[in-house]
Amino acid sequence: MLPFIRSDLAQFTAYKPHPSSNTSEPVATQFDRLDTNESPYDLPPELKEKLAWTYQQVIESNRYPDGGHQQLKETIAEYVNDSANLSQPLFTAANISVGNGSDELIRSLLIATCLGGEGSILVANPTFSMYGILAQTLGIPVVTVGRDKTNFAIDLQAAQSAIANTQNPPIRVVFVVHPNSPTANKLTAAELTWLRSLSEQILVVIDEAYFEFSQDTLVAELAQRPNWIILRTFSKAFRLAALRVGYAVAHPEAIAILEKVRLPYNLPSFSLAAAQIALQNRQLLLSTIELTLNERDQLITALSQHPALQITQSAANFLYLRLQPNTFDSPDTILKILHQKLTSSGTLVRLLKEGLRITVGTPAENLRTLERLKAAIASLKS
Ligand SMILES: *Cc1c(COP(=O)(O)O)cnc(C)c1O
Repeated sequence: MLPFIRSDLAQFTAYKPHPSSNTSEPVATQFDRLDTNESPYDLPPELKEKLAWTYQQVIESNRYPDGGHQQLKETIAEYVNDSANLSQPLFTAANISVGNGSDELIRSLLIATCLGGEGSILVANPTFSMYGILAQTLGIPVVTVGRDKTNFAIDLQAAQSAIANTQNPPIRVVFVVHPNSPTANKLTAAELTWLRSLSEQILVVIDEAYFEFSQDTLVAELAQRPNWIILRTFSKAFRLAALRVGYAVAHPEAIAILEKVRLPYNLPSFSLAAAQIALQNRQLLLSTIELTLNERDQLITALSQHPALQITQSAANFLYLRLQPNTFDSPDTILKILHQKLTSSGTLVRLLKEGLRITVGTPAENLRTLERLKAAIASLKS
């Protein structure tokens, strides 16, 4: 450990995404990359051409980007209004902050709420790991509660008592995902009632990264909830993971804080242009969702027939797969072996403590997922 580094960073390891290629072959031809919930479909060529034209004709590489993101915020506000089927538009640019991926917004929120010993955060595991990881890199304590083993509902009693009993520093932020990753379930009515009951001293962050798949949004409630922030991203249904654009929707006062703590030019001009073009062409871009949802449902049907697997419904573009209880002596080990076998047969999926998270890919990828999973399980018994 370098002597000038904060001592609490010693035990951290850097976030490791897809394995990188270990041959001269590109990762794309070696693997079905179903471990990070991206869309399997690149931007359509006509949109890439538009973007290339914008880069050639409009963007001045020698100039800083538009640091206020005004135009993009206006377009996002209009999309958010649309997405909630509101009779009256609720949102304007003043309700939007744009981040270098929603990861940046998560970090900005942590800086704005908990830094300097002012607060802890609460998460219900399993959930999106970045909340905990980013909090820890900032020295912010992470309080965790569990979920129901069957339907993944948050243990609300534990959550409530964590809030009542956590002191020095108290819980300042509750993070939930709607629908949750990796378990793919939406927030329940009881969870929503609980979130609504929380004191205004606590910030509620509702991450709607998979909204375009679930079509279930809470933005309409923001008008009554000054302590709620909704996060969304262009990395999933909008097929722009490479360009790192996410956004927050909230009361103008909360947005003003996010604007205060962010880096001045946090998004490259190219990314701003790409998000703008994506929204202008959203019908075209989002038209692949239907196929993904059909594929997801077929995968679920096929996998639920397997006696060794336990599969639950999904409101997103991925599946959470567990082993049937009491089928294997050492389920943890079996899960790791399955993950390894899938990787070596060419399908990358996300290994979690109690399950595998598998992104819905193209129809061809999904067929391979089924075959490779079945082969991997069959090989266990011999
Ligand atoms: C993928 C994902 C994000 C997106 O992060 P970006 O930084 O915008 O790419 C955010 N939250 C959750 C829960 C996710 O699964």
